[in-house]
Amino acid sequence: MRRGADRYLEALNPEQREAVETLDGPLLVLAGAGTGKTRVLTTRIAHLLRLGRAHPGQILAVTFTNKAAREMKQRVSELIGGAVEGMPWLGTFHAIGVKILRRHAELVDLKPSFTVLDTDDQIRLIKQLLAAENIDEKRWPARVLASMIDGWKNRGLRSERVPDGESYGFANGKGRDLYAAYQRRLKDLNAVDFGDLLLENLRLFQDHPDVLARYQQRFRYMLVDEYQDTNVAQYLWLRLLAQREDGEPQNVCCVGDDDQSIYGWRGAEVDNILRFETDFPGAKVIRLERNYRSTAHILGAASGLIAHNQGRLGKTLHTEGDDGEKVVVQGCWDDEEEARVIGEDIEQLQRHEHALNEIAILVRASFQMRAFEDRFITLGLDYRVIGGPRFYERQEIRDAIAYLDVTLNPSNDLKFERIVNVPRRGLGEATLKSLHQLARANEIPLTQAARLIVETEELKPKPRRALAGLLADFDRWRSMVDTMRHTELAELILDESGYTGMWQADRSQQAEGRLENLKELIRFMEEFDTLAGFMEHVSLVMDAATEEGTDRVNLMTLHSAKGLEFDTVFLPGWDEGLLPHQRSLDEAGRSGLEEERRLAHVGLTRARKNAKITFAQNRRNYGMWQTAVPSRFIDELPHEHVQVAEDDGLRGYGPSRFDSEDMFASGNYETPGWQRARANRQRSGGAPRREPITIEGTLVAASTAEGAGLELGQRVFHQK
Ligand code: ATP
Ligand code: MG
Repeated sequence: MRRGADRYLEALNPEQREAVETLDGPLLVLAGAGTGKTRVLTTRIAHLLRLGRAHPGQILAVTFTNKAAREMKQRVSELIGGAVEGMPWLGTFHAIGVKILRRHAELVDLKPSFTVLDTDDQIRLIKQLLAAENIDEKRWPARVLASMIDGWKNRGLRSERVPDGESYGFANGKGRDLYAAYQRRLKDLNAVDFGDLLLENLRLFQDHPDVLARYQQRFRYMLVDEYQDTNVAQYLWLRLLAQREDGEPQNVCCVGDDDQSIYGWRGAEVDNILRFETDFPGAKVIRLERNYRSTAHILGAASGLIAHNQGRLGKTLHTEGDDGEKVVVQGCWDDEEEARVIGEDIEQLQRHEHALNEIAILVRASFQMRAFEDRFITLGLDYRVIGGPRFYERQEIRDAIAYLDVTLNPSNDLKFERIVNVPRRGLGEATLKSLHQLARANEIPLTQAARLIVETEELKPKPRRALAGLLADFDRWRSMVDTMRHTELAELILDESGYTGMWQADRSQQAEGRLENLKELIRFMEEFDTLAGFMEHVSLVMDAATEEGTDRVNLMTLHSAKGLEFDTVFLPGWDEGLLPHQRSLDEAGRSGLEEERRLAHVGLTRARKNAKITFAQNRRNYGMWQTAVPSRFIDELPHEHVQVAEDDGLRGYGPSRFDSEDMFASGNYETPGWQRARANRQRSGGAPRREPITIEGTLVAASTAEGAGLELGQRVFHQK
C-alpha cells in the first residue's frame, strides 16, 4: 500500500508534493497554465483515499465541465490502481447542486421530481409573464429580462435582495417584480432554472442549519479546480460548506490562475481568488512555477502576451523542456484560405503520423467553425466539435436552410413544419393538426394541404390569414429564384419572413452569435453560383458520416478549451474585431480587452509542441469586402518566440504575383480559392485594399505595389 503511494508522490515536484500533502486547513494553489494544478487536485484525491483520510463519499470535488469530471475520476482510478467505487460528489457546481436539491426539495417548496428548465423554456415562461403584465415585448425583450435574472442569480441575489436602482433598466423599474413573479411561476410548475440550482442550495443551507451542518460534516475535504472562474453564488455556496463551527480546520483546496479568468461576462469574479487568504484565515498559498506542458517558445510567447495586462498578480514561469519550434504566424487572404492552409498543415502532420486527437483548432466565435468544417469534409478529415453542435446542426442554420429548402422545394414537409411557426405567426398545434389530417387524407404534401385549407372555413381567421400570407411569401420568393442573386434572395427571405428580426429583437449574447452564424452562412453562399448548388453542398455536408473513427481533429471555441492540452494548436482569426472581439473593444475601460487577452493566452497555453496563429487579410461582410487588421495581440508576442510563415501557405500570393491588376487577368498563378475570391470581389464590386501586413517590421502577408519585390519574412520599414 505504502509503496504505491510513494510512486505517485514521486511523480511530483517539491511544491506540487507540498500541495498534495498539505491536507489540513485551507490551501490555495495559485499558478500559471500547465504547472500541474489539475494534476495536484487529482493526486490529492488519490492521496486522501490511500491514506484513508476520507472515503469517496466524503470528498467534494468541483470541476468546470462534466468532461473534466469524467477525466478526473478516470485519473484517480489509475493513480490508486483500481476503480474508485463512485465519487458521488465529483462534478460541476451545477451537477452537485442539483443532487443536493433533489434530496431536500421539500424544504425549499419543491417536489423531488422538479424539472430543470433549459434556456428556451425559460424564455417562453418569461414571455408569458410579460404578456400577462401587458409589457410590450418589442420594447422589453424577454431575453433581456432573462439575462438580468441570470446576472442576479450569479451574484446570489434573490428578488427581494435586488438593490433598488437595478431593476430600472427594465420596463420602467418592473424588473425586480417580474423576477419575483417568475420565481412564483417556477414554483407552481415545480421547476427551477439553471441559476436556481445554486441559489436554492443557498436558501436551503441558510434556512436549515441542520441540513447545512450535515453536509459540512460529510464533506471532509473540498477541492475546486478553475477557481478563478467561480461566480459569487458559487463562492457563497462554497463558503457555507467550508464554515466549520466545531473548530475543525477547513479542508478546502482551490486551484486557479488569475490569468485564465475568461468568464467575467458570465459573472465570474476573479476577485474570489485574490481574496482567498482573507476569506479562509490561516490559508496557505502555494505557487507552482514550472510549466510541464509547453515548449520554451510557446511559453515565452504566451507569457510575453499576458504581460500586457495590468490587473494581474504576475508570476514567473519556466520550463525545463526544449525550446521547441517558434510560434508560427501566418497571414491568409481570407478565411477560406485560412481553412485551406490549416487543412493542408493537418494533412502534412497526418503524413508524419501525428494523431488527429492531438490537434485542436480554437476559434473565438462559433461562426468561424463553418469554414473548417466544410474544408475537413472536403478533405475527408475526421473532426469533432467540442462543447457545442456542429455548424450545420445549429438551430439557426437548420431554420435558415429549412426556409431555403421550402422555397426550392415546396413539398419538403419536414422543413416546412420546422419553420411554419418560426418566428411565431399563430400557426400552432391546432393548425398543424388540421393540415396533417388533410394532407394524409389526400396524400398530398403539407404546403398543398395548406393551399386547400386557406380556401375553407376550417381555420380561425387569424391563423388562416397567417398561413395564406406565408404561402404567398414562399410563392413570391420562389418566383425570384431565377432572377435574383441567390445570396440576396437568401437574405431577403430571412428578412421578410421575420426570421432575422426574431434574433435581432433578442439582444442576448447567444442571439448575437446566432446572427453571426447566419451572416456566415450567406457569406459562404457567395462561393456557389446558384441556390440549388449551395443546397446540394449543404445536403452533402449535413449527411457527412462522422461517427466512425475515434482519431479526430478537435474543433472548439477558446472558452471551451480551458484546462485541455494538445500537441498542436491552431489559432485562426487573430484579427482586430474578432480577437479581441468587437464587443469588448466597444466596452469602456480596459477590462473587456484584458479578458480577450487572457482568452488569447488560454489559447496559446493549450499547446504542447506547436502553435500556429493565422489571420485573414480580408473578410467579407454581406458580400462587401473589408480589409481586416491583424490582432494587436500578434504585435504583442515577443519577437524572439515568433516565426513568420515562409511562403508555404501563401503560395501564388507572393508580392510579385499580384502587384498590379494585370496580374489578376493572367490567371497563371491562381489557385481555385484565389479565383473564387477574385470572382466574388468583382461581383460585389468592392475591391479589397491590398496593403502589406507586417509584424514588428517583418512582411507577413503580401500585397500591392508597395510590397512588390519584397520576399515574405523580409524586414520592411513603414513610412508614416
Ligand atoms: P491549466 O492551467 O491549463 O489548467 P494545470 O496547471 O491544471 O493547467 P495540468 O493540466 O495539471 O496543469 O498539467 C499540465 C501537464 O503537465 C499535464 O500533461 C500533466 O500531466 C503534466 N505535469 C504536471 N506536473 C508534472 C510533473 N511533476 N511531472 C511530469 N508532468 C507533469
Ligand atoms: Mg487545469
